[in-house]
Amino acid sequence: MASFFEELTKSIVGDSSLQGLSPEEKHQLSELKKEIEEEKNIQRSFYIQIGQKYTDLFGNQPHEALEALCSYIAESLEKVRQKEHQIKVIKNSKICPQCEKECDPMDVYCSGCGTDIRQTKTLQGKSTHCLQCQHALVPGALFCSGCGTRV
Ligand SMILES: [Zn+2]
Ligand SMILES: [Zn+2]
Repeated sequence: MASFFEELTKSIVGDSSLQGLSPEEKHQLSELKKEIEEEKNIQRSFYIQIGQKYTDLFGNQPHEALEALCSYIAESLEKVRQKEHQIKVIKNSKICPQCEKECDPMDVYCSGCGTDIRQTKTLQGKSTHCLQCQHALVPGALFCSGCGTRV
């Protein structure tokens, strides 16, 4: 931000149309421009909040003037959802069947709701615990090291 204001001050000092101004006036100008920029930043943050609120409330049935913008947002949200899902698949996470919380593959209980998730398959479709004895399986193992059952 500092460099932006430095640029602003430079542009005022270097502006030939302002040559008749006293240093105080130039300083005032730069202060005013700085304050305007700060207000604009505040406005931007509120515009973003309005946009998010509008999308939450009316994103499914937007005013026709906002249909295109809302559909861009919806598309982008969907892309993020897909990419977040890809991350969960790569991490081989488990999704709790009760509360849908993302859990580590070797977790015994869901950290969100306490459900036993030993028999929940990971997003890569893998079993992490033996069906017979609930023993934790070594990744890639063909037999359970607890009871010898083929897995
Ligand atoms: Zn849960
Ligand atoms: Zn077993």
